[in-house]
Formats: sequence, structure tokens, C-alpha cells
Amino acid sequence: MSGQVHPPARLLMGPGPINADPRVLRAMSAQLVGQYDPAMTAYMTETMALYREVFATANEQTFLVDGTSRAGIEAALVSLLEPGDRVLVPVFGRFGHLLVEIAERCGAQVHTIEVPWGEVFAPEQVEAAVAAVRPKLVAVVQGDTSTTMCQPLADLGEVCRRHDALLYCDATASLGGNAFATDAWGLDVVTAGLQKCLGGPSGSAPITISERAVDVIEARKHVEAGIREPGDTARGTRIASNYLDLAQVMDYWGPRRLNHHTEATTMLYGARECARLLVEEGLDAAVARHALHGRAMLEGVRGLGLGVFGDVAQKMHNVVAVEIPDGVDGAATRAALLADFGIEIGTSFGPLHGRVWRIGTMGYNARRDAVLTTLAALEQVLRAAGASVTAGGGVGAAREVYA
Ligand SMILES: *Cc1c(COP(=O)(O)O)cnc(C)c1O
Repeated sequence: MSGQVHPPARLLMGPGPINADPRVLRAMSAQLVGQYDPAMTAYMTETMALYREVFATANEQTFLVDGTSRAGIEAALVSLLEPGDRVLVPVFGRFGHLLVEIAERCGAQVHTIEVPWGEVFAPEQVEAAVAAVRPKLVAVVQGDTSTTMCQPLADLGEVCRRHDALLYCDATASLGGNAFATDAWGLDVVTAGLQKCLGGPSGSAPITISERAVDVIEARKHVEAGIREPGDTARGTRIASNYLDLAQVMDYWGPRRLNHHTEATTMLYGARECARLLVEEGLDAAVARHALHGRAMLEGVRGLGLGVFGDVAQKMHNVVAVEIPDGVDGAATRAALLADFGIEIGTSFGPLHGRVWRIGTMGYNARRDAVLTTLAALEQVLRAAGASVTAGGGVGAAREVYA
């Protein structure tokens, strides 16, 4: 018979998932309650309020989609888009392509603009495309871990409003570690996950929805026959997914508490604790912490003599793409880091596959000891792989950032 789970000790320094904050793990070991227990509905209401702070929004409709971040993305797109709707996706990495793929499955007419990996869009580029395409929805990623870039969003809400488009953002990789302001930036729908800067496990997707977007979703509401009440008339084109039908999920989280799924109680405990941690620390302080440790890691890898991929001025605070030196086997070196030091760093996708490692400093692991230990270990495995690295250069450069 197999034994109890007993995972090896790991320091997860990739682009996510990362080690969960112990407080989140403790919250997730709490006993279950029924889904309509007053304690549970109070936790749900508190979680909504906490995530309004995390997303910097006053949106009433702020809650959790049960599933990994991708469930949040899919819920947003399948609930907003009807077959034939025009969508614009500015693509600057792998997760932009994911938005395209999901929007296409919704039957939307998807238009894209692209910049090379390692760059982001200027607002004028997006505006020109919005003017040409006249989309119902612009869907964009904030931080794309595949390239480490962070798309500036501050002007895009204004652009979308001028052209009467909704604006959706996938902030999974960046939220909590980089400045974010749903309302001030005019974002209509934002989704995230816990396993990046929020210090939790994957499996819950916080979402916030503006009133404009709520109106679009509600106009397609079809309450299931078995729970339909007088006045619940079917309207519009039915949302193609039942599980991810945000009109029904909003009714479940809202005052009617209309039965839909059973809220994933343990994940809710975890998601609530992630938000409590962030609110307690302060959003600005959390962003500053990610900026500090991200800069220490960046200067550290440079101090080892390694190159860094992409336009570093536009990089997310919480992940860096490190060029694998010539002659070094990227996979074998990562494996040595895991086997000898218990440290995981990330591989990469698409055009960057085999060219860079991605090293994260996020959530619970945006810490000085995690950064210095990773740099010290990286020096050793690179040396063993025959690379010429500056002795002590990584830890030294990072310590200077901290000094
Ligand atoms: C990591 C990441 C995801 C992850 O989605 P999961 O379903 O939680 O694996 C989604 N979007 C972006 C931008 C990410 O960086």
C-alpha cells in the first residue's frame, strides 16, 4: 500500500507554484462546515470584501471561481462572449495565446496583435487595433510568466471606454507583486490565482467584475429549471458552460445564495488567508517587497555573469528569465539544483525553450534567505556544469542590493 503523502523538502523558486505560506496551510487544515452554515456564508462574505481590497475595487461582484486560474479565465470569457463577438487579444507571450484559444472556443471572432517575446505594447498600438477591430472585448494578460514581461495597463481602460469595449485582464502571475488597480485603471473583469504572488496553492481563482460587465453577463441568465423561481425568466444566448456560468455563480455568492456548485470550502479557507496576509502586510508594502527581492535576484544572476532575457525595464518584479550559458545543459543543471539543493527553478516554453530558466521570487518565497540560498546553489551547479561564473558574485551582488 502507498503511504501517506510526505513530499520532499523543496524551495520552489520557479515561475509558480511556489511554497505556500504556512498560515495558508494551517487555514486549509480547518474542519469543514455546511455550505449554508452561517459561519460559511460569513466566510464567503468576508472573502468577497478581502478580495475587493486585493483587486483595489469597489465591485460588488468580487468572489472566487472554484478551479485553477484557468477556470477563472474561462469563466470570464465564456460568460462574456457570444458566438460571433469580436475580441482583440494583444499577445506578448504564452498566456496571450491561451486567451486566444479560449475565446475561439467561445465562437468569438478573435483578432490579435503581437510584439516579439520580451516586449510589451504601447497604449497607442492597442488603441489603433481597437479602433480598427471595434471589439466587444479586449482581453490582455498583465504579467506573462512565459516572457516575464508586465504589460502596462493604466491607459487601456480609457482606450476601451472610448471605443465602447470591455476590458478583461488575467493578473494571475502579477497580482500582489506588482502595482494593480482595477477601478483606477478601468478594468471590467480581472481574474487571478493563488499560486504566484499570493502565497497559496493553485485551485482557486479570485475574480472581480464591473457593473458594465455584470450587465452583459446577467443579460444571458438562464436559471436551471430545478431551482428556478417565479421571475427567473430565461434571457439572451445561454452561457455555454454550466459550471463556469458567472450569472449563476454570482447568484450563489449573492444575497439569494441560489444553489449552484458546493463552494470548495478548503480552497476558500486558503484563498481567504492569502488575502488576509496581503491586506495585513499592505498592498504597497507587498509590491515593494517583491520589487526588492526581484531586484536582488536580478542583480545576483548578473553578478554571476549570466545574461537576462527581455526588456528588463518592463519586467514583472517577481520573475526573471536567465539565459542558459553556452555549453550548459539547461535540463541537467535544473535537475542538479533539485537533487542536490532541493531548489526548483523553471524551464520555459515556445521560442525560449532551452534558452532560459525562469527564476521566481514571489509570495512566501520573496525573501532574502530564499534569494541568497538560490544564488549560492546556482553558482555551484553552474560551476559543476563547466560554466565560468564569478566566484561569490551572485550572493555578493544580491547582498549589495539589500545593504
Ligand atoms: C501561472 C499562470 C496561469 C496559471 O493558470 P493555472 O490554471 O492556475 O495553472 C494563468 N495565467 C498566467 C498569466 C499565469 O502566469
